[in-house]
Amino acid sequence: MNSNQSGTLYIVATPIGNLGDMVPRAVEILQSVTAIACEDKRHSKKLLDHFAIDKPLFPYHDHSDKKISDSIIARLQSGDDIALISDAGTPLISDPGYRLVLAARVAGIRVIPVPGACAAIAALSVAGLPTDRFRFVGFLPAKTTQRKKVLQELMAVAETTVFYEAPHRILETLHDAVAIFGPQHSGFIAREVSKTFETYLHGTLSELVTAVENDSNQQRGEIVLVLAGRETSDNSVTVDGEKILRLLLAELPAAKAAALTAKITGGDKKQFYQLALALKD
Ligand code: SAM
Repeated sequence: MNSNQSGTLYIVATPIGNLGDMVPRAVEILQSVTAIACEDKRHSKKLLDHFAIDKPLFPYHDHSDKKISDSIIARLQSGDDIALISDAGTPLISDPGYRLVLAARVAGIRVIPVPGACAAIAALSVAGLPTDRFRFVGFLPAKTTQRKKVLQELMAVAETTVFYEAPHRILETLHDAVAIFGPQHSGFIAREVSKTFETYLHGTLSELVTAVENDSNQQRGEIVLVLAGRETSDNSVTVDGEKILRLLLAELPAAKAAALTAKITGGDKKQFYQLALALKD
């Protein structure tokens, strides 16, 4: 329930690259509110200046002092309209805002989204992988052991899975994904979406590894990684291949197990060898 005299908390999406992706309503709302909560004032000031929005900015993070969140709620209760933006894209999607939205909901304050860009959705819309059901898991753990553990858990997931990834980790993550899902599993990388040097790579995980290894630009900029779901990847041979490889590895050295797996499945010996080494890890 919203109390009548309270203001509104607007959750406003901003561009993830091309400023032309700022929706007109986002500009109108940001021009109309009393103040704007953001992650980084200097960063957001540039966006506001570009759109001639002259409103006070103040920082908000989910780990902000509770006093800040209480003071935002108090302002909303006194009738101020407040907007929340993040550095780019849709707030709360791997960005701050959840605690504030929850606090506003609990306080009965109106919370209204102003939809716009989101890197995960933009990437998914061009991945060429099933979108009827998908899972978004945000950033994978930075350490390889934990990352592999999460990927291992995701092995069971039937639907397409979307990740955010840092450019300096994309290659490591792809190698881990090869180790877990197999080299023939389908994937997609959207890099620098809506920016000057945007690139889109679609293929098997081993093709993606090769493409990223051969072009250092692929390890720069902002990246969304999309992995096919268990049932939708055209990798039935590879999933079996990995099973076979695991069984053979229990009995044989890596090179021999990889060679036999390649013979049985018709897959690539080198890739199975790499997978064997990763599995042994
Ligand atoms: N809230 C944002 C959204 O709606 O997309 C995401 C914020 S998260 C902190 C930042 C991550 O999103 C980046 O590390 C990258 O993985 C992804 N990202 C943001 N902008 C991107 C772009 N233009 N192209 C590809 N990925 C992008």
